[in-house]
Amino acid sequence: MTVYHDEIEIEDFEYDEETETYHYPCPCGDRFEITKEELESGEEEATCPSCSLIVKVIYDLEDFMQGEEIAAPAKKQLEIA
Ligand SMILES: [Zn+2]
Repeated sequence: MTVYHDEIEIEDFEYDEETETYHYPCPCGDRFEITKEELESGEEEATCPSCSLIVKVIYDLEDFMQGEEIAAPAKKQLEIA
């Protein structure tokens, strides 16, 4: 079982459009990170690159699924030559 340092709502994260990554301040001085792509795939753990802390991201997956129907993980591009 993962022990979360805290549970943070996605609204409290800061979004960087360039890297499509959500940030939240970590007690160590660095920031927790989780990408938009990870959220879309159902990932809910934001990790800090400088320490071992993990926070659970509270968000509604459906909010991230909307308009992303093409981003399905399974690529069914079978080349029928
Ligand atoms: Zn940290």
